[in-house]
Amino acid sequence: MSNQKIVFLGTGGTIAGTAASALEHSDYTAAQVGVHALLASLPGWNDGQGAERYVVEQVAQLDSKDMGFDVWVKLAIRVAHFLAQADVQGIVITHGTDTLEETAYFLQALLAPSKPVVLTCAMRPSNALVPDGPQNLLDAVAVASSAGAHGAHGVTVVCAGAIYGAEEVQKIHPYRLNAFSAGDAGPIGFVEQGRLRLLRDWPRGQGLTLGSALADAAWPRVEIVMSYAGADGTVVRALLKAGVKGLVVAATGNGTVHQDLEAALVLAMQQGVKVLRATRCAEGRLLPGANDALPAAPGLTPVKARIALMLALMQGR
Ligand code: ASP
Repeated sequence: MSNQKIVFLGTGGTIAGTAASALEHSDYTAAQVGVHALLASLPGWNDGQGAERYVVEQVAQLDSKDMGFDVWVKLAIRVAHFLAQADVQGIVITHGTDTLEETAYFLQALLAPSKPVVLTCAMRPSNALVPDGPQNLLDAVAVASSAGAHGAHGVTVVCAGAIYGAEEVQKIHPYRLNAFSAGDAGPIGFVEQGRLRLLRDWPRGQGLTLGSALADAAWPRVEIVMSYAGADGTVVRALLKAGVKGLVVAATGNGTVHQDLEAALVLAMQQGVKVLRATRCAEGRLLPGANDALPAAPGLTPVKARIALMLALMQGR
């Protein structure tokens, strides 16, 4: 397996960020250093086998708060391209933490790879006194180099020594090094001194192929509205006027929605807009009931339900 290639795709983020001072962790500029330079600083990178074993590409260079459909399409096309190469063992994507869970879920929903596709990141800029990016990168390489059992692997996220599944992972902290959680599902496992300790199976990969339609597809406008005390239908009505095609409601508790907002969403559905309920709760999963007025997206956070709905609309589902 050691002659198999690992592909690195850079997209920016804090892992590629720089600050004015090595002690500054919050006031910095993301996406300043190229992925080639990030990798060149890793121990062992220049030991001679690099050129044969590693393929490195800068797909984008942005703060992931600004992630958009154009970069997602470009990234998905490159990921699909490399997954199809017989000599590629796995792919590591460097990414900002802010929308990392969205990109991870997007790639999983679209490609469900049977080879490892691992997103990694950092919470401190690359020139911090003690940056976390280099270790996260090495841990991601360990995951990307591992063989999944029975065609399983899927898209995973590696941060602070933990491995998370794309469907469950969520950023839960604004500055802690260990900024992610998979809620009550827990991590898939840990990377310990370059070795993996798995707590459960890898997510199943179906090895879907990327339809050529994605590059030209028009992304349907799908927005998220939130249910809260005093919520009403004003935002929904404004979005209907703006031509929205889908609405995800970030619902309270087990998918409950303020009656005034729910009435507006039911009207939206009657006008042909697709509506999905996801829970605002950080843990657990929404349990649909027999008499629900609005369809549910159990197990998905509002941002992931939005991606699922956009992809479904694009595929005419
Ligand atoms: N704003 C940064 C980004 O998402 C945060 C990070 O990477 O930690 O690109």
